[in-house]
Amino acid sequence: MKISFLITVVTATIVGCGSLFADSLPLQSVNKAGEVIDAAIEAHGGAESLSNLNTLARTADFVNYATGQSRKPGPPYDRSESTNFNAIDLKDHVFITRNTGDGGGYTFDQGTLVNGEDSWQLNYRAGTAAPLVQPDFNTQSGPFIRVTPALLLKQLQARRGTSNWLGEAEVNGRMHDVITLVMETGPALGMYIDQETHLLTRMERVLPPFGQVEYEFLDYSMVDGIAFNKTFKLYVNGDENIEFVTRSTEINKPLTAYMTVPDNLEKVAAIAPDPLSTQEIDEGVFLIGGNGTYALFVEMADHVVAIGGTQTVPASITEMRKVIADKPIKYGVLTHHHSDHIPGAAAYAEQGATIITFKENETVVRNAASNDDAKLEFVEDSMTLTDGSRKVVLYNIGPTPHAENMLIAYLPDQGIIFEADHFPQPGNGVIPPAVPATIAFAEALVRLNLDYDKIVGAHSARVASPGDVQSALSREAATATGGR
Ligand SMILES: [Zn+2]
Repeated sequence: MKISFLITVVTATIVGCGSLFADSLPLQSVNKAGEVIDAAIEAHGGAESLSNLNTLARTADFVNYATGQSRKPGPPYDRSESTNFNAIDLKDHVFITRNTGDGGGYTFDQGTLVNGEDSWQLNYRAGTAAPLVQPDFNTQSGPFIRVTPALLLKQLQARRGTSNWLGEAEVNGRMHDVITLVMETGPALGMYIDQETHLLTRMERVLPPFGQVEYEFLDYSMVDGIAFNKTFKLYVNGDENIEFVTRSTEINKPLTAYMTVPDNLEKVAAIAPDPLSTQEIDEGVFLIGGNGTYALFVEMADHVVAIGGTQTVPASITEMRKVIADKPIKYGVLTHHHSDHIPGAAAYAEQGATIITFKENETVVRNAASNDDAKLEFVEDSMTLTDGSRKVVLYNIGPTPHAENMLIAYLPDQGIIFEADHFPQPGNGVIPPAVPATIAFAEALVRLNLDYDKIVGAHSARVASPGDVQSALSREAATATGGR
């Protein structure tokens, strides 16, 4: 895509004839944005059609590119497919979503129903419905609104006073006006309106430190008098991340059919909030973390071995110091190269610990550590860390459907295994049916002949048993009907 900016400097002009009034820069910018918005509203179906648009239900086929989350560390990234259903009722603040597909060694069929007090997290594959603890219509529906021009135009209609004209820009040889939109939540959006068709063709959003997200809206056609794009593409820092093609669009039909929890989903307890905490799994073995990310700390004779590289690591180290005051962290073990499992490298490097990873992951790990003095040690099939009596054995269980190389940690004397991303277990309630990654993990435990009685993980505070692995393997995926 070729973009060139021709930012026009808006100059304040003094109105003559002795008038003291001048159009200030902000006023000119808001006025110009208003003109662009009026023309765009007209092109997208007109003020009346957009005002009357209250419910919208869309089904789309998604292609996802697993940037930083593929089986190998670098590009080209793995491609997976899913189907997405979204339905929104703007007046009653109801939002329903369901996502079905597979990728990364996972199979999923899950959704969310946001309807005030009657809000649920639905897992059709596990056959469960859990109350949504803090339902928030604006936050939950934001991603759908941001990929649906008609809904964005409604936002512009309602929030026009907050919109600014930023200038003109050429995109793919066509001139656009660029205006801003500030939604209820999230950073401002830069909207590109084609100067000839007055359609929204492109949008940008900056999410520091993550980077820039670009949205492309393509192939418009009219549905019940409103312009809808058939194709959508999303880029993250220039890399293609999502593409979808819409299969169906329904306007102003009642959503009641989607607003109840299907009968065959078992209502289970809400996922409780999980603040930072320390669990002593065995003497000198601590699982420390919160909010879905955890690391394991093993106290050795004169040092500490830390396992897991998620974002919790800095906070978990601080917490660990309350139970192991003075021993240095000698090793920081990273389970795999995924973008959410390497941020801990920086904290380990800062502690002066040796980071243990795979040779293949060197580049992404050095980038994550962002420390020229970071010490790396590479593991191939297995590695034993010991102080002469206590042992931590690392095994590469890869290749798995989740990653080419994947470390688990095994404490043979305590019968404890630490894993990441292969045994997804909710904080409480029923263990879901095994996904392909779980099957590969269970097979590795048998192949390595590991005698264990506890599994702890990078994404759950729950301590699982061998029985839990068996129940995951023996459970069939539920086939839910009703709802969507
Ligand atoms: Zn992963």
